[in-house]
Parts: sequence; structure tokens; C-alpha cells
Amino acid sequence: MPSSDDFSTPVYGIGPKLPVPACDFCSRPGAIVYFATTEFLIELPTYTWASGDRFYACPTCRTLVDAGDWPGLIDYAHLGARGARVVEGFRDHHTPGAVAFEPGTDPEQNR
Ligand SMILES: [Zn+2]
Repeated sequence: MPSSDDFSTPVYGIGPKLPVPACDFCSRPGAIVYFATTEFLIELPTYTWASGDRFYACPTCRTLVDAGDWPGLIDYAHLGARGARVVEGFRDHHTPGAVAFEPGTDPEQNR
């Protein structure tokens, strides 16, 4: 994983760093939006993977999603066959339109 675009710099002050979501596509820290998703399942050899109802995205992946550039997204995120299946499921189940949240915050805390 590249470290040059690591946005997980601790906030000022003492105490535990607020956990902020990483991008669900490329796994880089610093997601800025999420997409609402109808939960879908992917059958894997040893277990069933559940998508959850949100996919977080970093700026680059968000742009690729907004453009509907699924091959570009798979390429950028270096996804293999399993990741490509997740992207296909996301493509078919997400609600278009990214939901932005305040950088450095974790919208999961408000659920
Ligand atoms: Zn990303």
C-alpha cells in the first residue's frame, strides 16, 4: 500500500485518534463520502460475504464511481477476481449520489 497519500495523521491533542473510515474499494485511508447500498451477498468457497449497507470511497474512487468507470475502479484499486465481483454487486445495488461527510469524522458513530 502506498504511504505517500496517508491521510490518517493524528488529530491535535492527547487521546485516542478518531477512527476514520478507509476506502472500501482501494483500502486507502481518507474516505470522504459513502454510497448507500442495498445489502447483497457474495458466495465464497468458505463463507458468505455480506456487503453491508454503505460503501466508503476516497476522492479517486468516488470519481470513478460517479463516472460509472467500473473497469477503471477495479484497475485503480488493484482488485482481483473477488474484488471485481464486489464491484459488480455494488454497481447493481448502490444508490447513485455520494453522501459527503466532514473529513476526519466517522459517520459510523452517528448510526
Ligand atoms: Zn479508494
